[in-house]
Amino acid sequence: MKDEILTYTEMCGREGMSLQRGMNFRSPPAHGIVLMSRRPNAPYEDEMSSDETVLLYEGHDVNRTKDTPDPKSHDQPRFSIHGKPTENGKFADSVDNMKKRNTKPAIFRVYEKMQTGIWTDRGLFLLRDYEYPQKGIRRVFKFRLEQAGFDSGAPRASAAFVHEVSRQIPSSVKQQVYKRDRGQCVQCGATDQLHFDHDFPFSKGGTSILPENVRILCARHNLAKSANIE
Ligand SMILES: [Zn+2]
Repeated sequence: MKDEILTYTEMCGREGMSLQRGMNFRSPPAHGIVLMSRRPNAPYEDEMSSDETVLLYEGHDVNRTKDTPDPKSHDQPRFSIHGKPTENGKFADSVDNMKKRNTKPAIFRVYEKMQTGIWTDRGLFLLRDYEYPQKGIRRVFKFRLEQAGFDSGAPRASAAFVHEVSRQIPSSVKQQVYKRDRGQCVQCGATDQLHFDHDFPFSKGGTSILPENVRILCARHNLAKSANIE
């Protein structure tokens, strides 16, 4: 569920795989998984548009080995030394196929790192495009992922979906709220099954932009809340 707060272990359990890498391509109909971070010490430059609906995700470097002691001085590889596509390659192939054969874009669930061991679900995104530009002394992949829903097979965006798009909570707000609420349900102090909640329902004009109307709730208190207001 979007805006859920998960520990690393919960995230792996939910996806049914160990998430050692940031990029995890899975063939449709399964969704792939992308781990991103916009923290100051993040290893890659992942950018999100100001409305939080377009993610420019940087590809990943060669593994550090004896021959490549400094991965940041090498082009990001499309193929492994054995000639098989890397995750960069699988992502890029999927875009090339989509353009050539007019197939549907690959779907990814995006998780963003809040702090060590804590992640938040940013929802489903479609892999639409990529570039392989020069960045300093080397070339890096830049993958363009767009929030899913406008064009995921549905004939037109439904009202429900537009609603969904409008309620993206920016990372900076999540970071502040997580800190302020100390990673706990504000009602009971639970530390599991948490998610970011709008204090104010959208139907009553709530906005997701300010930390003041976002808080952390556990699943139980979220249910209790829905029962009270609807
Ligand atoms: Zn609670």
